[in-house]
Amino acid sequence: MQGFYHSIDTFGAVDGRGIRYVLFLSGCELGCEFCHNPDTWEQGRNTISVEEILKDIRRYRRFYDASNGGITVSGGEPLLQADFVAELFKHCRRENVHTTLDTSGYAPQNAIRKVLPYSNAVLFSLKAANSATHRKLTGKDNALILNNLNLAASLSKVTVRYVIIPGINNSHAEITDLSKIIRKLPQLVAVELLPYHTLGRSKWDQLGKPYPLPGIPPADENDVHQVRQWLQDKNIITC
Ligand code: SF4
Repeated sequence: MQGFYHSIDTFGAVDGRGIRYVLFLSGCELGCEFCHNPDTWEQGRNTISVEEILKDIRRYRRFYDASNGGITVSGGEPLLQADFVAELFKHCRRENVHTTLDTSGYAPQNAIRKVLPYSNAVLFSLKAANSATHRKLTGKDNALILNNLNLAASLSKVTVRYVIIPGINNSHAEITDLSKIIRKLPQLVAVELLPYHTLGRSKWDQLGKPYPLPGIPPADENDVHQVRQWLQDKNIITC
């Protein structure tokens, strides 16, 4: 089976536990203003097969095993190619390769149901808890995403990823809404806090797209500390 992909990082260290084979699939239906991979939005023509990926993983397998790592499928939005990811993860699980799905959750529920049975872990990137903030940041409402977060947390081990964007999604009200969402999930879910940065800006320039957040500074330690404190005050686990 073939999937549309953007790129591969054979030694990823930030998208899940240990050293990971990170496959970036192409295609995304959100348009996040802070996206650092806008070049993954279009599906493009580059394809790769499940067998080619497995062969590649076997070459570096000892590094993944030694570090308790595995494979992460990211994007773009991997759930837009749910059949492909499910097939890939099914084979990885057979070969005892730890599987992590890195998703925005913006996909049909049946996509989640196809992939999650084969995912050891899910990195679920929630852009904003408040619906209006979410719409401003991504162009889309977050109702479907929140339903999918709930479903994902009932099917796999989920970590919510939250990019702190100063002045946009880090107010006390926004973080209170976030904590309410996390506390209602069917299992204990930690929140990984990621500071907004502007390193992806050059990609917007290369694509000839105006950068949507020109005046927003990167999040600093204080921004992260404040959000962490507010979440911990509500007994939310952060990492
Ligand atoms: S979901 Fe991810 S890839 Fe898609 S626009 Fe948002 S940040 Fe970019």
